[in-house]
Amino acid sequence: MLTIDGSQGEGGGQILRTSLALALVTGQPFLLENIRAGRPKPGLARQHLTCVEAAMAIGQAEAIGAMLGSTTLEFWPGTVTPGDYRFAVGSAGSATLVLQTVLPPLLTAQGITTLTLEGGTHNPLAPPFDFLALSFAPMIRRLGPKLDLELRRPGFFPAGGGQFQARIEPVTQLTPIAVLERGDIRQRCARVIASRLPENVARRELVVIRERLGFQDDECAVEAVTNSPGPGNAVIIKADAEHVTGVFSGFGDRGRLPEQVALEAVEMASAWLEAGVPVDEHLADQLLIPMALAGGGSFRTTEPSLHSTTNASIIRKFLPVEITFEPESEKVWRVVVRRAGEAN
Ligand code: AMP
Repeated sequence: MLTIDGSQGEGGGQILRTSLALALVTGQPFLLENIRAGRPKPGLARQHLTCVEAAMAIGQAEAIGAMLGSTTLEFWPGTVTPGDYRFAVGSAGSATLVLQTVLPPLLTAQGITTLTLEGGTHNPLAPPFDFLALSFAPMIRRLGPKLDLELRRPGFFPAGGGQFQARIEPVTQLTPIAVLERGDIRQRCARVIASRLPENVARRELVVIRERLGFQDDECAVEAVTNSPGPGNAVIIKADAEHVTGVFSGFGDRGRLPEQVALEAVEMASAWLEAGVPVDEHLADQLLIPMALAGGGSFRTTEPSLHSTTNASIIRKFLPVEITFEPESEKVWRVVVRRAGEAN
């Protein structure tokens, strides 16, 4: 059994999710210790427990330690079984991170899977639905599988209650891809999603976006949400480039100024635009597993985050791949995934 230290590197939930995903792909059981030791409240929170339960369901797996607050987990994978599943986080915890957990084994499963996922869809520190649908899913489709995502209703912290569907049509073998060029920006837009909030929140956010990024009025939109159980706010900036779509977000919270929410998204977008790379910081850590499963791939990105380097260490434990991060200039890095022992 593989022993994994959950306190290493980034020390968060991603170590758990990557371990669950790759245990299902490889059939390799693992013991994870010090779960989320790097977080203020270590151990399995509702959201992480749902990830474990989802992995157990789709992989006919068994686990010891699958309970709230647990800091160790033993996980014994079984057979990956495509089908129709519904997983509800039961709090505002991120439902998109549940998809991040179960997607990798389903990309090469024996049949089509549909998932109904409930919880938060627009949470800080997690991929918002829009990022998955517009930036991540097109990359997955380039690797071969079909991945279609549909938002039924958004869910925000603290009320949660969002829902989306994912349909995954697998392939036998993923195709390695190279994502080295971004190309020209062809279209861009900013969208403020606001649920049960005063009108001036969206207006103030769009002022920042117009001032900082020079967006015109027809590039800005407000989406007033009426079907989410609670209040919530997200700013989504989308840039369609020739070869990729970048999606950058900021999230509202009680006591947080609308200007700060907009700036969070603006700063992420600016870092990506200035570097001229195709893959942003978040897409980078999320592309590593699919590329490792394809047995190869490469991309240009900004300086790797601790999420990326930690994810690479966990992937190397399960799969015979090498993952290298090399700077090409001050702002541009090249990430290469190849089978272990394969020549450069
Ligand atoms: P962890 O902090 O270990 O739970 O992992 C969080 C995951 O969410 C990582 O895969 C991040 O790349 C991803 N993530 C966090 N914020 C964003 C964002 N604004 N857009 C897209 N992905 C994000």
